[in-house]
Amino acid sequence: MRYLFSDRFGGVSKAPFASLNLALHVEDDFRDVEKNREILAEKIETNRLIFMEQIHKDHIEIVTDATAQELLGTDAMISDIKGIGLCVMVADCIPILFYDSIKKVIAVAHAGRQGVALNIANKVIESMIHNFASKVENIEIFMGPGIKSCCYEVKKDAIECFENYSHVHKDKIYLDIEKKCIDDMLKIGIVQENISSSSICTCCDQRYFSYRRDGKTGRFCGVITL
Ligand SMILES: [Zn+2]
Repeated sequence: MRYLFSDRFGGVSKAPFASLNLALHVEDDFRDVEKNREILAEKIETNRLIFMEQIHKDHIEIVTDATAQELLGTDAMISDIKGIGLCVMVADCIPILFYDSIKKVIAVAHAGRQGVALNIANKVIESMIHNFASKVENIEIFMGPGIKSCCYEVKKDAIECFENYSHVHKDKIYLDIEKKCIDDMLKIGIVQENISSSSICTCCDQRYFSYRRDGKTGRFCGVITL
């Protein structure tokens, strides 16, 4: 198994997508995005990457040899096929990678506020257990850079499901979606030692695309392959 989280460097896109933008839907030049995707494929050493058209919902696809290069209306995918790189694109949402080293199964999930509220990570874990006979204690979790509670200010109506994961600072409400996501996974039996999470806040750290900070910008990726 190999995995990586890209940053905004090493690609060919021009501002405001400079330079390793991996998303086709942000009005970047599609030829630049295709080149960037080739660069990512080289980095992870696979010639087949699968992307999702992510819509902040909880639809999960099982990826097979017959799967198209882009899955529509999908926010998570699971596979046991060797040589396929599963990609999740983000710019503040949390890219989550999953790995069962016993059953040799990988997965990715796109977890923003709505995905975490829909419990998308747990749904992926349950699907790995149901469809691939994974055991929960064998599943490792890698959470990449995302927006943290230092920067994730929301309106009052966005606090639903996050009552215990919010704080108020100078009359503004901030959410900690990562903490809720981790707590939810621990509740269904994921082992604490099997969770690694990035300390990087995308909105604070200029090395990463941040929709909250920059608006029109690119997307970086979490990618995992067997
Ligand atoms: Zn921050």
